[in-house]
Amino acid sequence: MSARYLIRFDDICPTMDWKIWDGIEAVLIQHDVKPILSVIPDNQDQKFHCGESANGFWDRVRAWQGRGWTIGLHGYQHRFVTRDSGLLGLNGYSEFAGLPLEEQRVKLEKAVKIFSREGVRPDVWVAPGHSFDANTIQALVSLGIHTISDSLFLYPHRDSRGVFWIPQQLWKFRAMPFGIWTVCIHHPDELYTNLAYFRRSIQKYRHAITSLPEVVETYAQRKQNWLDAVFAGLWGFGIRARRTLLARPAQEKCLAPVRDSDSLRGRKAEPAQ
Ligand SMILES: [Zn+2]
Repeated sequence: MSARYLIRFDDICPTMDWKIWDGIEAVLIQHDVKPILSVIPDNQDQKFHCGESANGFWDRVRAWQGRGWTIGLHGYQHRFVTRDSGLLGLNGYSEFAGLPLEEQRVKLEKAVKIFSREGVRPDVWVAPGHSFDANTIQALVSLGIHTISDSLFLYPHRDSRGVFWIPQQLWKFRAMPFGIWTVCIHHPDELYTNLAYFRRSIQKYRHAITSLPEVVETYAQRKQNWLDAVFAGLWGFGIRARRTLLARPAQEKCLAPVRDSDSLRGRKAEPAQ
């Protein structure tokens, strides 16, 4: 079976750069690509204050969902308050990982309430910074969210808690022989800022681009096997090694080190290293 690709745009919020987005959206519609759009319910991250708050933001979100696009719940406020890298261990900052279950549940309830108020269904969970832990999953399940867009597996699977994992392993298109690959795109990425490059990439890979509903239909009952764990371990090792070599802080460029470090939990408890 040849490789299939999902496209995910993170950090969708009212103050993003809508001129850039309008061009991307036109390409997506032209090529009938149904992406995952990760929407921040109540963005408080200054990095995404690129312009005036868009009028009718939630009208647009509802329209995307009505078009069959997948809407992700991208945290609550996109504010990093701990230095916990969570289950994936990719980034040492989080909005959720490391917090007590009840505290996480309260945040997630607020996030879900905003979606509910705006008539938007959270189709999938997308953790800011790829950082979330077992408490996050327990809280999500209690709120009826059973699908997660994250992990470094080769194929999606459903775990023993009934949670459906859709892996996210790429930040630009790469030709792969097999597997289900989610390409995650952030505002600074060339796929976002260079419309001609984005269009060429979509044209090149269109035949292999799928959608979240198609992936769910195909893999809804697939269980994890030992190869999944082996692949995820190797892929994660590769990402960390590459980062070290390139001396880059994080693949998720929207997650530059938090400036307001005083707000981070555990700061005083950090060992001097
Ligand atoms: Zn984000």
